[in-house]
Amino acid sequence: MLETLKEELHKLHLMLPQAGLVTWTSGNVSARDPETGLVVIKPSGVMYDQLRPEDHVVLDLEGDVIEGSLKPSSDTASHLYIYRERPDVNGIVHTHSPYATAFAALGKSIPVYLTAHADEFGQAIPCAGFALIGGEEIGQQVVEHIGTCAAVLLKNHGVFTVGKNAKSAVKAAIMVEDVAKTVHLALQLGQPDEIPAEAVAKLHDRYMNVYGQ
Ligand SMILES: [Zn+2]
Repeated sequence: MLETLKEELHKLHLMLPQAGLVTWTSGNVSARDPETGLVVIKPSGVMYDQLRPEDHVVLDLEGDVIEGSLKPSSDTASHLYIYRERPDVNGIVHTHSPYATAFAALGKSIPVYLTAHADEFGQAIPCAGFALIGGEEIGQQVVEHIGTCAAVLLKNHGVFTVGKNAKSAVKAAIMVEDVAKTVHLALQLGQPDEIPAEAVAKLHDRYMNVYGQ
């Protein structure tokens, strides 16, 4: 079931190591099928180069496995919590991408120093509190702190991004790492100025409504 979504998720999963966002088996992408409301997610502890479309696990929002012989990602309860709380979200990505996670390690949000940051996110990337892995506590932290942003840092842990579909969430995961890397480099050279909030709002609005074909 949901073959097309599994194929799409498989391709998106392969982008995580290509973009340098994950090592070994860490990180995961999930998607909610808008028609059935079912969620497709990466199986736990499977290497990216061995992952096949049919290995992805299908669950309902309560966590019952509908299809799949492998155990779902250890972050599944948190993904499902986010989907239950956020009907507008149909894609979620979690990574430990190094530059963004360096800010998370310090419990620091990322202020808007770059136009690319304003374009994609329209606000500072917030940092949520620490939460243990395995239950839905991480999901609670994400929902509590992410607001209208597409990305949130998780203290001492990593990054969660959300989107209207899985591809948007993967794009946000790639962009937040890119922003964090450049901000890290800038901070080695000095203290950058933040872009004023009014300009951030204008940049974000233009990017969301005018940019592209
Ligand atoms: Zn993690």
